[in-house]
Amino acid sequence: MLKALIFDVDGTLAETERDGHRVAFNAAFRDVGLDWEWDEQLYGELLRVPGGRERIRHYIEHYAPPIECEFGEIRSIDRLIADIHGTKTAHYAGLVAGGQIKLRPPVAELLRAARRAGLRVAIATTTTRSNVTTLLEQLMPKARDAFSPIVTADEVAAKKPNPAVYLEALARLGLDADEVMAVEDSEAGVRAALAAGLRVLHTPSAYFPQRVDGVTARLAGCGPNDDAADCLVVAGLAELRAVEQAIAA
Ligand SMILES: [Mg+2]
Repeated sequence: MLKALIFDVDGTLAETERDGHRVAFNAAFRDVGLDWEWDEQLYGELLRVPGGRERIRHYIEHYAPPIECEFGEIRSIDRLIADIHGTKTAHYAGLVAGGQIKLRPPVAELLRAARRAGLRVAIATTTTRSNVTTLLEQLMPKARDAFSPIVTADEVAAKKPNPAVYLEALARLGLDADEVMAVEDSEAGVRAALAAGLRVLHTPSAYFPQRVDGVTARLAGCGPNDDAADCLVVAGLAELRAVEQAIAA
């Protein structure tokens, strides 16, 4: 029986990637004197690499951007990545605080229904705790304490699709994998949850609209393909539970 939902953050709770992280990365590049610009298409490609620092490193190693900054200062790559990432985190917090990012309506309704039904809700994400805290305070100031546990990159270094962050969340919930479902938008996230033994409710997002194999169902209203026959689509928690009971029977 379903007792808890573990939510991914970026792309799942809100369209943080396109409107938040991408914009913040570009502002950070300018701040450290780099003439880099991640447009929406390029950022979609880079999102295949989970984790902000890892994404910057991948860009440097595979896209060979100019690294000499305006002061002519040659820094180590590790230091440069740390500088960019720290600056970017501050810009992201500013964008969130400015109300640029909204909770996605179908996910908001799922969250409300889950709490009404007495399900526990948790978070498993590869973003930093400071990003999560900032976002929850802005998106749901009254309900932000409802999530427990919140497992972030601060506690688990391995990024999705590694299942470590889900295994940690599951351990802290103290539940069996078959009592918990993950809510995820990206393929890497879905694979992480499946590898942890969880079932997955898929919530496609702007950068991850495509079907991912292995999910239990897709949440209606989250993607452009709700009419497609490639996946079971559920309108909300009640339908999800009905599907779950039918599968268990
Ligand atoms: Mg995501």
